[in-house]
Amino acid sequence: MNSTENKKLVEEKDPRVHARFDKFSICTTCYRDKSDCICKKVTSFSNKLRVIILQHPQEQFKKLNSAHLCGLILRNCQVFAGLSWPNFKSVAGEHEQPSQWGILYLKGHAQSLSPVEIFDRKDQPILQSEIKLRGIIALDGSWKQAKTLWWRNPWFLKLNRITLNPEHESLRNQSKKEGLSTIESVALALRYLGEKSTLADSMIWQYEKLILSK
Ligand SMILES: [Zn+2]
Repeated sequence: MNSTENKKLVEEKDPRVHARFDKFSICTTCYRDKSDCICKKVTSFSNKLRVIILQHPQEQFKKLNSAHLCGLILRNCQVFAGLSWPNFKSVAGEHEQPSQWGILYLKGHAQSLSPVEIFDRKDQPILQSEIKLRGIIALDGSWKQAKTLWWRNPWFLKLNRITLNPEHESLRNQSKKEGLSTIESVALALRYLGEKSTLADSMIWQYEKLILSK
């Protein structure tokens, strides 16, 4: 059995992939069952680059979901659940410009030179030093759900695209090799966009400890 088949089997056997909390008994801060509230166990960090997570509604109560943990760890992070938002400013704020923001895009390019690459809205590669990036947007959902969000929010195309090419496979057994959980994607992006590596390391470690090892 090759490793892909092996991973597929693990995923099929892990009931937690699709497991959800009962939405009437969750803590409304960490979105975990009140009996398993992790709010007081999280170590928070200040992040310079603002992070916004747009969460597909079907992801909201999933046990393995990492969006709210990400929001608790990062002091400068917001999570919005929904399917569509009228425009960029309704999400990021009146004073923000889409040209200074990037949306995370998981590509997993074998030929990529770097784990994180930035492309402008005309799809031209740009260096981080060429734009003063103020924030990033991450989509929280499966590949199919993310596709829906792209389709429902045409303003995403006004943002720079931050392509992630993870070197390491996800801690979670995703169906695609390049698949990463939301918190892993954000950690990878922040690591390469100038935040301290201790912050990214802690995000992964806390995800493992507070959600995956349960
Ligand atoms: Zn909680």
